[in-house]
Amino acid sequence: HMVSQRLQNVPASGTVAISNKVSRLKAEGQDIISFSMGEPDFTTPTNVIDACKESLDNGFTHYTPSLGIPELRRAVAEAAHNDNNIPCRGANVLITPAKQAIFMTFLAYLDPDDEVLIPNPAWVSYEACVRLAGAVPVFVPTYFEDGFVPDPAMMEAAITPKTKMMVINTPCNPTGCVIPDNVLRELVSIAEAHNLLILSDEIYEKVIYEGKHLSAAAYPDMFDRTITVSGLSKTYAMTGWRMGWAIANEDIISNLNKLQSHSISCCVSFAQQASIEAIKGDQTQRNAFTKEFKQRRDLAIDLIDEIKGLDVNVPQGAFYLFPRYTADIKSSKLVTMLLEEAHVAMTPGSAFGPAGEGFFRMSYATGEEQIREGLDRAKKFFANL
Ligand code: PMP
Repeated sequence: HMVSQRLQNVPASGTVAISNKVSRLKAEGQDIISFSMGEPDFTTPTNVIDACKESLDNGFTHYTPSLGIPELRRAVAEAAHNDNNIPCRGANVLITPAKQAIFMTFLAYLDPDDEVLIPNPAWVSYEACVRLAGAVPVFVPTYFEDGFVPDPAMMEAAITPKTKMMVINTPCNPTGCVIPDNVLRELVSIAEAHNLLILSDEIYEKVIYEGKHLSAAAYPDMFDRTITVSGLSKTYAMTGWRMGWAIANEDIISNLNKLQSHSISCCVSFAQQASIEAIKGDQTQRNAFTKEFKQRRDLAIDLIDEIKGLDVNVPQGAFYLFPRYTADIKSSKLVTMLLEEAHVAMTPGSAFGPAGEGFFRMSYATGEEQIREGLDRAKKFFANL
């Protein structure tokens, strides 16, 4: 049977390809150190797990309203208001996995041939989700020399009469870039001048070491054109819970909810109840995660600085390094060699779009021992390259 035209237009995920290969080599008994995973190695804080067990014991196992349970929507809105200055209330929140929020935003607001500006390198699924909506991703390069901060003039130059939306991702996967106030201010004013919607993906908002996280929706008059997406996956080591949200005006929220109610219906009931504890409860464990990530980042940077043929900048957020290599090889070939010869898994920069060629992504959301051993192997590999 012929697969749909829609799906034929979607590239296979470069990050999944590498993790499949890692699994195969591990199954063959190889000792592989993997820096390819985009998730914390920690377990969810125990107070959140306990809240989930309690919710189950209380029989909270039914459908919830498709928008999410009101108490969680209020908790999300309060945090977004207090921490990020977003002028929102519970009515502006839809509880949905972050990735689902992004997918539904594109499906709800893009028509065939509409264009979406995406600073590049970028998280792999923006391109795929835009294409699934029948629309066209327009990559705008960002540069190592600029710390991968998007250039507003280049973004504006890429606008055509078909441009409908701008994607902002701060802190950024894969570069770790945190967009500073002066640049974000320019980006949102360009969106306003050209009447664009903004998809602001802030899933790493709390995984930040220097600088301050800023939300596009907090700038004057921006709330009505911005869909803010975030969630618990990265901050609270809750990737498996599938808990996130979209924040926007009530009209946008009701359109997204139409899609939600006809697809997943609602998020998992007891996961929603436990998420209230994550947001409002004791933050000791999550603060410890961030502290540990910073130590790992600094360690990994020190070790990469000693490797000949690699350059790395110091990202202010997320848990990725995005080193540049000098060897004249495609990044997909380089990571294959690194995996087969040195048994270290990285993600090729090209998986994150054309501007990622010549780089690879290292996730340091893994143990200190693995970072030392893995980068020691990488050092020997690059010395012989
Ligand atoms: N946006 C970015 C930039 C991400 O890195 C991820 C997770 N890899 C997501 C969205 C999706 O998050 P979730 O798994 O919580 O749906």
